[in-house]
Amino acid sequence: MSGVLVVTEQREGAWNRMSFEALAAGQQLAAMLGVPCSAAVIGAGLSPLTTELATKKLEKVFSIQHDLLAEYTSDGYVHALEQAVQQGDASYVIFPHTYQVRDFAPALATRFGQVLISDVIAVHEGPTFVRQLLQGKLNADYRKPTPATPESPCFVSVQAGTFRAEAVEMGEAEIVALELKLEPGQIRNRPGERFRESSQTVDLSAAPLIVSVGRGIKEEENIALVQELADALGAELAASRPICDNGWLPMERQVGSSGQTVAPKLYLAVGISGAIQHLVGMKGAAMIIAVNKDENAPIFEVADYGVVGDLFEVVPALTKAIRVAKS
Ligand SMILES: Cc1cc2nc3c(=O)[nH]c(=O)nc-3n(C[C@H](O)[C@H](O)[C@H](O)COP(=O)(O)OP(=O)(O)OC[C@H]3O[C@@H](n4cnc5c(N)ncnc54)[C@H](O)[C@@H]3O)c2cc1C
Repeated sequence: MSGVLVVTEQREGAWNRMSFEALAAGQQLAAMLGVPCSAAVIGAGLSPLTTELATKKLEKVFSIQHDLLAEYTSDGYVHALEQAVQQGDASYVIFPHTYQVRDFAPALATRFGQVLISDVIAVHEGPTFVRQLLQGKLNADYRKPTPATPESPCFVSVQAGTFRAEAVEMGEAEIVALELKLEPGQIRNRPGERFRESSQTVDLSAAPLIVSVGRGIKEEENIALVQELADALGAELAASRPICDNGWLPMERQVGSSGQTVAPKLYLAVGISGAIQHLVGMKGAAMIIAVNKDENAPIFEVADYGVVGDLFEVVPALTKAIRVAKS
């Protein structure tokens, strides 16, 4: 059996943090199959990134460089990665499940007569890839119906926060520059404004600290209490769906199955019950602290630390203590 290829994501020379989560997933899959793991970087001006990747436990680091790839376009990425996959020896191609990957990876898989097994939360022997269905109520196992080969690889994207970037194993890799044939006429689309670049949007998936507020806050004007706590911690403010549905915070701050998936170092949930649709968006946090007055709230089942208490007492006290500790 041939190897695993992880396609990383960068923008203007800066990594998308989820690249390393995909790398951890790729290394885990390769170890399970007893095959080598390689990685690819795509874009222009990539040498610092390929050098960094070459310090990981990988067989090869493929540099997929072209001036026409300086800015992301789905056509450019599909054409380039199609050639990269054809030149490589990968039976499994792994991506981070980013917005960009959602845009181009299904088309790339189609070039090989395959589908993308998307938003995977675990990899088991087989290999079998686990996806969540029905807002996280069911886990479903997916596998390629015929054995994966380099001629017909299996394309998989992994959910944010499922694999830990810190788990990436270090080593040494050979850097290989791929020869690409890419013409301007092949790229039909023109880059527009990026989803996360509008002044209103916030990238919670990259936030290391998140304070999240739920319906326990009761009134819109009380959100300020939690905002103060977030400010004291230097954290992003997020919310459960009812808060965003009410228009108390913008939709882009919603965490959950119909909002953002986050994987911060700390997720502090304030007045959030812990419905499954919320949990699927934040269970990948390294540490979860919950404040809820109901000791039976489901959020405590996933919390590392829980405070059973009235948020209107706990939150101001916490904010004050943090300010004192910082002063
Ligand atoms: C298709 C679909 C998609 C959905 N997508 C999402 C999603 O993306 N994200 C999401 O969050 N939800 C989503 N939901 C909604 C989800 O099912 C829940 O309704 C929602 O998460 C509940 O939000 P909550 O925890 O803030 O509110 P509640 O469930 O009402 O919980 C409020 C909590 O606050 C506590 N509380 C009350 N007063 C205090 C106080 N003074 N001090 C401390 N604690 C207090 C209560 O004990 C309670 O546990 C979705 C639902 C559906 C059907």
